Amino acid sequence: MISQSSHAEISFLAQVNESFDKAARLVDADKTLLDQVKLVNAVYRIAFPLVRDDGSIEVIEGWRAEHSHHKLPSKGGIRYASTVNEDEVMALAALMTYKCAIVDVPFGGAKGGIRISRHNYSEGELERITRRYTAELIAKNFIGPGIDVPAPDYGTGEQEMSWIADTYQAIKHGELNSMACVTGKPLAQGGIRGRKEATGRGVFYGLREACANEEDMKDLGLDTGLTGKTFVMQGLGNVGYHAAKYLIEDGAVMVGVAEREGAIYAEGGIDLEEVVTFRQENNFKSLEKFPGVQLIPNRAALELPCDILMPAALENQINDDNASRIKAKILAEAANGPTTAAAHEILVERGILVIPDAYLNAGGVTVSYFEWLKNLSHVRFGRLQKRFEERAFKGLINAVERATGKRFTEAEALALTKGPSEADLVDSGLEETMSDAYQHIRETAKRHAVDQRTAALAVAIEKIALTYQSMGIFP
Ligand code: NAD
Repeated sequence: MISQSSHAEISFLAQVNESFDKAARLVDADKTLLDQVKLVNAVYRIAFPLVRDDGSIEVIEGWRAEHSHHKLPSKGGIRYASTVNEDEVMALAALMTYKCAIVDVPFGGAKGGIRISRHNYSEGELERITRRYTAELIAKNFIGPGIDVPAPDYGTGEQEMSWIADTYQAIKHGELNSMACVTGKPLAQGGIRGRKEATGRGVFYGLREACANEEDMKDLGLDTGLTGKTFVMQGLGNVGYHAAKYLIEDGAVMVGVAEREGAIYAEGGIDLEEVVTFRQENNFKSLEKFPGVQLIPNRAALELPCDILMPAALENQINDDNASRIKAKILAEAANGPTTAAAHEILVERGILVIPDAYLNAGGVTVSYFEWLKNLSHVRFGRLQKRFEERAFKGLINAVERATGKRFTEAEALALTKGPSEADLVDSGLEETMSDAYQHIRETAKRHAVDQRTAALAVAIEKIALTYQSMGIFP
């Protein structure tokens, strides 16, 4: 039944909890245990002064929420946005707990946020904000390789992670595993190949898995596979850009793009690299001048005709105002919380396949987990076995050639004997994780006859409840 009440005033955390309660009905667990799984374990709120470049002083507000300590460290990105508030940080931390459980990453969930619009600050000011925030987290024990490990999120990237790692190491001088205090770092500073593109790549693997299912695609009136499928992207940042790139490489067609400054539509497709370059050259201000496309109001982009709608910006974009006008057959939630609880009900009732955020954008935390493991083991993945495996493969194909009397071409031999590099291993680990998790969610959804968000959360709650049960406290 579609709820008629407006969810406009319902907080983000309340909406996440609404989805949680719906999913918890499928899990056989004690109510107190479910409360323990649901409630945010710890929140740190901080305000500190920033001396701006012009000498004026501004008070900066920030948060770090650790939703769950059932596994340690807790893990979650840091967001820089003018809309950040305590409720949002807690909601995103909760989503992180469920996300980690869905993809079997052994962390609790956390999230950080600073209420600033990064475009209003110089590089130097951003560095001072990031370093002070990190020092505050250290002082209150809200960061550390075994405590709580931040990562990039909306408005942050490698540069901020690099400042965090450097500040942590300066204060915790000599701590052996200090590099593992944050993930999403630059490669030269303990980062891992594939982390920057991981969330978008994971979105691609998730969508590819969903679109490969003949029965589900038939129900939606679509062919199997990504080739020829049209999609609209909201937000061409880190996640949106990479998801679009891999979808296009696999044959999908980007027909619409919505960004902060405007939205464009072209039935025949939009060239991703040309849009990205055009925006950079025009200071991210003049998307409406991009040649050969139709200009449309920003919000209308979500209602464009397409096979896949992909919000990859902020939350609450699809709500009870526009949910009934969404024309896409698949809603791929690349962003966190892009759909309100009320809108979700409307979409599901309309037969739209909603692939939920807690699963679909989990590629980022999955590869962050690999980076954390790399930092703890102090060795690049593949370093020990690459050559060994290459030699073994060469021996094997030599034996095949001798036995059959046939010779492989040089290109075939090269492909067959290639040992795995770090990038290969990360990508294959990500692909395996996203594919496995999708099948688990789909199978749960079918078994209980529920939507995929409810199924994904039920899968997560079940796993977390099991950890708490094994502690012997809860019945
Ligand atoms: P980002 O800052 O790199 O990109 C966000 C993009 O959205 C920017 O290009 C921005 O201009 C655009 N945008 C802002 N407001 C918009 C609007 N009203 N309409 C259209 N576009 C708008 O951020 P990101 O890291 O790509 O994160 C995007 C989403 O993905 C967030 O919800 C984030 O929590 C989620 N996410 C990110 C990661 C990660 O690894 N970065 C991992 C999991 C989930």
